[in-house]
Amino acid sequence: MITVMKFGGTSVGSPEALKRVANIIVKHESQKKVVVASAMSGITNFLVSTSEMTNAKEKKAAIDTFNDKHINTAKKLFTGKILDEFMKEYDERFEKFKSIILDGNKKDPYYKDNVSSQGERFSTLILSYVLKSMGVDSVAMTSEDCGICAEGKPLNGCAVLDKTETLMAVKLKPLVDAGTVPVITGFYGMMDDDKPLTFGRGGSDYSAAVIANGLNADMLEIWTDVDGFMSADPRMIPEAVRIDEMSYDEAAELAYFGAKVLHPRTIEPVRMKHIPLKVKNSFKPEDPGTLIHHLGRHTNELLKSVAVKTDLCIITISSAEIAYRPKMVARIIEKMSENDVIIYSMSTSLSTVAFLIHNNDVKQTMMKLNTIDAADIERIEVKNDVALICAVGDNLLTTCGVSGDIFSAVKEARANVEMISEGASDVSLNFVVPMSKVTDVIKILHKKFVSDKQ
Ligand code: ADP
Ligand code: ASP
Ligand code: MG
Repeated sequence: MITVMKFGGTSVGSPEALKRVANIIVKHESQKKVVVASAMSGITNFLVSTSEMTNAKEKKAAIDTFNDKHINTAKKLFTGKILDEFMKEYDERFEKFKSIILDGNKKDPYYKDNVSSQGERFSTLILSYVLKSMGVDSVAMTSEDCGICAEGKPLNGCAVLDKTETLMAVKLKPLVDAGTVPVITGFYGMMDDDKPLTFGRGGSDYSAAVIANGLNADMLEIWTDVDGFMSADPRMIPEAVRIDEMSYDEAAELAYFGAKVLHPRTIEPVRMKHIPLKVKNSFKPEDPGTLIHHLGRHTNELLKSVAVKTDLCIITISSAEIAYRPKMVARIIEKMSENDVIIYSMSTSLSTVAFLIHNNDVKQTMMKLNTIDAADIERIEVKNDVALICAVGDNLLTTCGVSGDIFSAVKEARANVEMISEGASDVSLNFVVPMSKVTDVIKILHKKFVSDKQ
C-alpha cells in the first residue's frame, strides 16, 4: 500500500510542528510512504515580495532573513553528525538560491515562479533530516529529481500527468518500493526547458495529487491545520463542523469556488484513478478527518458545506436580440478566451449576456471586448465587487422548494441575488451577492441549515 502524505505550511512551520509531523509519518501504518511538503509558513509570501525587489542591498537582507529562518530551525532540531550532513546539502541548495535572487533574470516571465518556489526546497530538506534523525531511511527530493512535469502560463501551471507518470516510474517508484521515504517539494513542476513553473498559490495539494496519480497510490492524505473539510471556512464561521465523507464532485466544486483547504485542481488527478483522499489535522492526528471518495455518503442534511469566491465582477453585454445570434455570443466568448479568463458563471436573456469573472481580469477583458465591432454591441455594464456562494448539499437540487428556503435566508440578510446558477452542476447551487453582504449571508445560511440542525 502506498500513501502520499502532504503537509501544509503551518504543519512544517516550526521545529515543534516538524517533529509532530515526523511522528505522524513514522507512526503511519502504510508500508510505503511518500511525503510532500509546502514551504514553512510565511516563506512563500516572503519570497513573492523578494521577487519584486530591485535593490541589491534589500535583496541581500532578504537572503539573510531566509537563511536565518531555516538555519535556526535546523539548529533547534539537529546536532553533531546529522547537523554536519544537513549543512552540506543545505549549503548546496542555498548557493543556488542566492544566485537566483542576486543574478536571476527578472525579465524572464517565469522568474517569479523560480523565486517563489524556493521555500519548498528547504522545508523538505529539513523534514527529511528530522526523519533521518529518527532512524528513517529518507531522502529529500525536488520536483525535478522525481520527474514532475508542468506546462502553462507563469504562476498558473498544471501538471503533464502522463509524462510525469512515465518519469516517476524510473525516478521515484524504485525508491518507494525499496522502502525509502522521499520528502518531495510541493508547489511546482518543471517545464520542457527545465524551468520551474508553480501551480498557483496553495499548489502543494495539487502536487501531492499529481504524485499520487503518478505512483498509482492507494491513498492521498492532505494534512493541514483544521479538523478536515468543514461545513464552512472556520475563519468566517467558528461553529463550522467537520464533514465525515464527501464525493469527489462535492469537494471539487467547493475547492474551485473558494474552499481554501484544497487547491482548486486537487481532485482531478486522484479522481481519475479512484484514489481516496483524506483531509486531516496534523495537530490532532488521532481525529478521523474527512474522507473524499467516489461515492461520498448520502445524508439528509440540506446543506453540507458552503464556500465563497470573492472579488468577482459581472460584465453584462447588451445587444439587440442576442439570443437569436449565437455566433455573436461565440465571438464574445472567443474574445474572452484570448486572455484565458475563467468564467465562473454565465447567463443570457433575449438581449443580454452576462459573465462572472475575477475583478483582476476586468481591464483586459474590456480591452478585448472593445475590439468587437461597435455596431454589434449596444452597451457593456460592469458590476464590481460581487461574490459567488457555492452551496453543496444532498437534497439541494432534488428536493422541491429547497432553493426557495435558501433564498429566503439570503433575503434575511437583505442581500440582493445578482445571478443564479442552478442545475449547471449536479451537486451545488451557486448564486452571486454583493461582497458587502457575503459574510451576513453565509452566517445566516450556516446557522439555519447547519448549526440549528446539529
Ligand atoms: P495548508 O497550509 O495546510 O495548505 P491552508 O491555509 O492552505 O493550509 O488551508 C487550510 C485553511 O483553509 C484552513 O485553516 C481554513 O481557514 C481554510 N478553509 C476554507 N474553507 C474551508 C473548509 N470548507 N474547510 C476547512 N478549511 C477551510
Ligand atoms: N507554499 C506555496 C504557497 O504558499 C504552496 C502551498 O503552500 O501549497 O502558496
Ligand atoms: Mg493550502
